[in-house]
Amino acid sequence: MSEISFQTIKRETAVSIPDELVFGRNFTDHVFEMDYNPAKGWHNPVIKKYDSLSMDPAAMVLHYGQAVFEGLKAYKQVDGKIALFRPEKNIARLNNSNRRMCIPEVDEKFVLKALLELIKVEKDWIPTKEGHSLYIRPFIFANDPFLGVKASDVYKLMIILSPVGPYYPEGFKPVPIMVTEDYVRAVRKGIGECKAAANYAASLMAQVEAKKLGYSQVLWLDGVEQKYIEEVGTMNIFIQLNDEVVTPMLNGSILPGITRMSTLEILRDWDYNINERMISIDEVMDAHYNGRLVEIFGTGTAAVISAVSKLKYRDLEIKFNENEAGELSKKLYAELTGIQYGTKEDKFGWITHLD
Ligand SMILES: *Cc1c(COP(=O)(O)O)cnc(C)c1O
Repeated sequence: MSEISFQTIKRETAVSIPDELVFGRNFTDHVFEMDYNPAKGWHNPVIKKYDSLSMDPAAMVLHYGQAVFEGLKAYKQVDGKIALFRPEKNIARLNNSNRRMCIPEVDEKFVLKALLELIKVEKDWIPTKEGHSLYIRPFIFANDPFLGVKASDVYKLMIILSPVGPYYPEGFKPVPIMVTEDYVRAVRKGIGECKAAANYAASLMAQVEAKKLGYSQVLWLDGVEQKYIEEVGTMNIFIQLNDEVVTPMLNGSILPGITRMSTLEILRDWDYNINERMISIDEVMDAHYNGRLVEIFGTGTAAVISAVSKLKYRDLEIKFNENEAGELSKKLYAELTGIQYGTKEDKFGWITHLD
């Protein structure tokens, strides 16, 4: 792979980060981009000004949705160092998504290098306020102008960056969720385990209906029997039953979250009794009525840990901890964000510093 070239990066005005950061609404002024075609492979890696794209209206992604993405964050740590949390895992997962979506794989070391180069160029965009970070969005899409369902020959990879505030601006607040039986997010042997754009298009209807009823996330059941718990919104889910902490085992339709993986490693280190297994919604409801259900939380890069305040299933609604986050949610949130912002020891070696 050729070296990354930088189109002259001269800012006319100094970086100024807006005061009010709505998640995903503000972008930095440079992007990384490279292209793929069968003759050249991945080529023309470049860091250039953020600008609109000019696309052929027949570009295959617009018709058949062949696109994948990733999401991770860069943090300004308390000592001023810039840190990324397990970025190599995101790029490995990007290639997993690529393989399933018939998109050519990328050179993981090269993409990591490109990502770090871009963050170096954009480092003044990383907000320093508490709980703020720079959200990193790599994505790849089919860019061949062709009408006909097949894997595209031509692709574009881009990385864009978005300065973000804390996911819950009012502080670590638990959210109400509802089980949907009318829709499924994904099915085994489908594309649920990929961060493929199409999965999110498929999830919108349930999300809209949940919002209308006053719930902020959907709890997804499995696509075959609609019995087993899979995920919550775009997060993995953890359920504490007395001293057992359960998360659904990866089965092909669940997205293998990096926060999920890290949460499991921390809980193992803390000697919790953890189980990756199938867990039905009936088991969770029964556990509540038997007094065994302690708390439920979601895990994901955006919110890190998202505690659940209420769970609606059919005409039942159960409540947790009087609208406060549970003990374990709070402990995990403090541990993960502590490692990310450098206030806790990185004992697992998860942090990559920008030198
Ligand atoms: C991205 C995502 C997650 C969380 O993954 P992280 O790597 O922890 O951010 C969980 N579920 C879905 C559906 C996702 O898209």
